[in-house]
Amino acid sequence: MKKVVILGGGFGGLSAIAHIRKQIKKKKVEVTLIDKHNFSLFTPMLTEVVSGNVKAENIVLPLREICVKNKVRFIRDEVTSIDSENNSVTCKEGTHEYDYLIVATGSQTNFRGNQSAIRNAFEFKSINDAIGIKYLIIEYLEKASQMTDPAEKKRLLSFSIIGGGITGVELATEMNDFIRAKIRKEYNSIKNDEYDITIFEYYKTILPSIDESQAIKAQRIVSESGINLINNASVQEISECNVSYSINDESFTKDSTITVWTAGVMGQEHLQSISNNSAPDKRLFINHSLTPENLGKDNIYVIGYSCAYKHKENILPPVAPLAMQQGIMAVINIMRKIDGKEPKEFSYFHFGYLVSLGKNNSVVNLFGFKMRGRFAYYIWKMLYLFKVGMFKKQVGVFFDWIMTAWFGNDSVLIQEINRDKP
Ligand SMILES: Cc1cc2nc3c(=O)[nH]c(=O)nc-3n(C[C@H](O)[C@H](O)[C@H](O)COP(=O)(O)OP(=O)(O)OC[C@H]3O[C@@H](n4cnc5c(N)ncnc54)[C@H](O)[C@@H]3O)c2cc1C
Repeated sequence: MKKVVILGGGFGGLSAIAHIRKQIKKKKVEVTLIDKHNFSLFTPMLTEVVSGNVKAENIVLPLREICVKNKVRFIRDEVTSIDSENNSVTCKEGTHEYDYLIVATGSQTNFRGNQSAIRNAFEFKSINDAIGIKYLIIEYLEKASQMTDPAEKKRLLSFSIIGGGITGVELATEMNDFIRAKIRKEYNSIKNDEYDITIFEYYKTILPSIDESQAIKAQRIVSESGINLINNASVQEISECNVSYSINDESFTKDSTITVWTAGVMGQEHLQSISNNSAPDKRLFINHSLTPENLGKDNIYVIGYSCAYKHKENILPPVAPLAMQQGIMAVINIMRKIDGKEPKEFSYFHFGYLVSLGKNNSVVNLFGFKMRGRFAYYIWKMLYLFKVGMFKKQVGVFFDWIMTAWFGNDSVLIQEINRDKP
């Protein structure tokens, strides 16, 4: 039996497992999944953990349980390097050999070399990031509710998101809905104009990756919801209490006590041990059969955020459907190789996009049909609920939504927050 090792149990890795299980049953392959966590994070709902709309445990899938069900061996360990000459993977706790390897270890935050951002901005990629930001907001609401000077309150309650892409916009709108509801119901000594959420975006509108007409509408909707949008902004320096930025060579500084960096991600360091033929953001260039370009190794498949996949000369944006479709194709090509057949070429099918703009508002483009407003918002909710991927988690998320719709979100601080490490 051939040994298939899958690195990373995120969107790409789990899609590969779902499609290789028939071959496991037929005893054609034995499969091992290695992930540094024993859960898989459903990132599209991470912003809802900040607002408390969903509980953290309902948007993570238990990898060991999934592996046991699919007769896959699970190893919780962190990959440090890959030796493509000797077909082995080195992790912190041990080394593992493979006949075929699928690399799906996703991304890390790309601070673009901004040292002040590395020191002072919060990342937004993990469950801990989301919970930390949520608690810090509540902590500051508690403090501000004791203050009498409106300027002091506003200074403390000034929050910034660097990067107005889908994640940044969804995070800002969730934070806005949460804070507004809390102020109205529980922190009555704080007024609506005594807090501020700002999105800093490098391009002329937020959501530069979506259709321009929808981006312009989204810009208007988000701005009308009370979020401050600073476009054409280049962020220079981030401290614990402010953000310095420039627009057309003119410099400005703005108060910001919580600054979240959503301005990009990049490939993981261990990818460089496979090849240094990578894009500037460290993702490996791959062939159409998903193997690394110019490496001459056809038993390694690099998928999802780990790869820079060129489609008509453009590198495709790293979205979950791309990782999932590549997971399927990696399995198809492994099985074809085992059967002595030529590999198939991958081609990406783009469904469109879904962006939540806060409660009851979204912009959606599905198969070219563009929608916005309340209907689009419910489509966003239903599609992502369907995509959570495990029935018990879907039920959990559904009831979380019902509970928050009926009773509102909690603002309990059940954990002390260390400002340096949220
Ligand atoms: C907040 C947020 C919101 C997002 N929203 C959307 C959205 O709405 N729609 C959309 O299409 N995309 C969204 N994305 C992007 C989407 O999450 C990625 O495109 C997708 O996760 C990429 O899949 P992947 O399989 O490459 O990596 P991931 O899904 O990130 O999986 C990588 C896995 O590898 C593991 N891993 C990482 N490093 C190591 C290591 N060294 N050793 C062992 N294991 C390791 C991780 O624990 C993880 O389980 C969002 C991303 C974020 C951060």
